[in-house]
Amino acid sequence: MAKVVLKNIYKIYPGNVAAVKDVNLDIEDKEFIVLVGPSGCGKSTTLRMIAGLEEISSGELYIGDKLCNDVPPKDRDIAMVFQNYALYPHMTVYENMAFGLKLRKVPKEEIDKKVREAARILDIEHLLDRKPKALSGGQRQRVALGRAIVRHPKVFLMDEPLSNLDAKLRVQMRTEILKLHKRLDTTFIYVTHDQTEAMTMGTRIVVMKDGIVQQVDTPRRIYDHP
Ligand code: ADP
Ligand code: ADP
Repeated sequence: MAKVVLKNIYKIYPGNVAAVKDVNLDIEDKEFIVLVGPSGCGKSTTLRMIAGLEEISSGELYIGDKLCNDVPPKDRDIAMVFQNYALYPHMTVYENMAFGLKLRKVPKEEIDKKVREAARILDIEHLLDRKPKALSGGQRQRVALGRAIVRHPKVFLMDEPLSNLDAKLRVQMRTEILKLHKRLDTTFIYVTHDQTEAMTMGTRIVVMKDGIVQQVDTPRRIYDHP
């Protein structure tokens, strides 16, 4: 089970910057939850703490039933997709997708199977030999998604994954990410500053402001007020 639970989570950066203040969230297994709010409200910091990329100042983080505050990122059953894709420029698409599995000492045949399966799902089989610089923005984003899904993580974290794409592609990729969510049947935690994106994608939305959670509800109940 991949419930994700945040209990009284704080993040104080050096210089006494309180980026996240007393955040409590109960994220259900397999839900698509969106953290939304203006730039600087603490969305990314929250996501990075879940990923283990940022230390938690105080509070408790559970992934599944396990207290994860001190678990290193690679041992959390999660994968993260970033806004800038973070692909390795010197590696091919295939190698980019295989890299995380290689690090974890997965046997070669199994890596090959998983990479090809992910490439098929994302329709990038014909790009496996290319380097990232020979790809369009949308293709890069698919590779970034591919790199995450080969690991079959229980939880997907996405930090503004579409904000570098043009408007048309952004709308198309929204639909694709939702399809991916259905198909993979895992928990997605998605960060965006874009209210339309939040409204069209989330089954529940977490509205953040100044490091605090203001509201947690369905899109309808948050945005459909007269
Ligand atoms: P968002 O993702 O909503 O834009 P962030 O989580 O990136 O917000 O940032 C929340 C607050 O924490 C901001 O005030 C930001 O300036 C501050 N912050 C983020 N990262 C750091 C850091 N490494 N050191 C100090 N302050 C930071
Ligand atoms: P290593 O560097 O560990 O020897 P390789 O890069 O040779 O790993 O890849 C191992 C396997 O992955 C190969 O046998 C091949 O089937 C597959 N592979 C590697 N790169 C590609 C690619 N660009 N396209 C398709 N399959 C690839």
